[in-house]
Amino acid sequence: MTTIGFIGLGNMGGPMARNLIKAGHSLKVFDVAPAPVAALVKEGAKAAKSATDAATGVEAVVTMLPAGPQVHDVYLGAGKIIATAPKGTLLIDCTTADVATIRAVNAAAAEAGHDMIDGPVSGGVGGAAAGTLTIMVGGTERAFVRAKPILEGMGRNVIHAGGPGNGQAAKLCNNMMLAIEIIGVCEGFLLAEKLGLDAQKLYDIASTATSQCWALNSYCPVPGPVPASPANNNYKAGFTAAMMLKDLKLSQEAARDADVATPLGAAATALYGLFAQSGGAPADFSGIIRMLRGEGKVGDLF
Ligand code: NAD
Repeated sequence: MTTIGFIGLGNMGGPMARNLIKAGHSLKVFDVAPAPVAALVKEGAKAAKSATDAATGVEAVVTMLPAGPQVHDVYLGAGKIIATAPKGTLLIDCTTADVATIRAVNAAAAEAGHDMIDGPVSGGVGGAAAGTLTIMVGGTERAFVRAKPILEGMGRNVIHAGGPGNGQAAKLCNNMMLAIEIIGVCEGFLLAEKLGLDAQKLYDIASTATSQCWALNSYCPVPGPVPASPANNNYKAGFTAAMMLKDLKLSQEAARDADVATPLGAAATALYGLFAQSGGAPADFSGIIRMLRGEGKVGDLF
């Protein structure tokens, strides 16, 4: 079993760290917010005083931060992990971030003699708690082989997507497809409402017909058909619309850089931008159905 420094104990990082403890690893944890650190300490983790401290005296470091700027800060800025961790430390970043930042941080890690992978995840807070995440890995074969046993403590499908940054590339493509899907599913249910077709009936038919997809079958954006979906809890996140907008913007930056036309990705980005700006940012991303339904001032709805 491995001694692991875990940094970023939010909606995803908290349960992922908990699963690593359950898998028998020894954890030293840090977050800029004290409450999640205290919660993990109660479950057997040691508290670290800083990101640098969390990466000291451990064999591996896992980070689960909001986005690229925090990853850069923790590894190369104030956190100084790349400069201060002993040579050969295994660095695992599970944040969803931009490919360019991740490739730059990975190159600095390699230069300093560390093995680093990017391992963004899919599966939401439910998957993080259940340890059933899909983890998309970018990095060298050697880093992947070293990281796999740790990743298997947090996820069920651990897939090596290629060299540094390829995990992020997979994640951005996945989330762009998800955003397009959920908007499509919302439109279907809104049309059904107006046509007098019961939501449960549409679900029973569509979830076994050609429009079936995760956004419909597992995350249905109307209350009822999927009891665990955020629609049944006033769209409490879950995966916030703000995070979805972040990922969509990253997908559009990547599409621009690669000179690829993604017109539906662009439309989804515009719709999530509008939703976030009108007060939907902290709601679950499936809450966009309330804006599409024209329910009134979005900021008052959640
Ligand atoms: P979150 O905001 O709940 O958690 C981020 C944590 O990082 C917070 O606890 C914050 O205090 C901490 N933090 C921020 N800056 C820090 C720093 N410099 N040092 C230490 N700690 C710091 O976010 P989340 O929902 O857990 O998401 C984390 C990442 O996972 C994001 O990149 C997100 O896009 C991705 N993701 C989220 C979901 C989801 O359903 N929530 C699903 C898949 C992927």
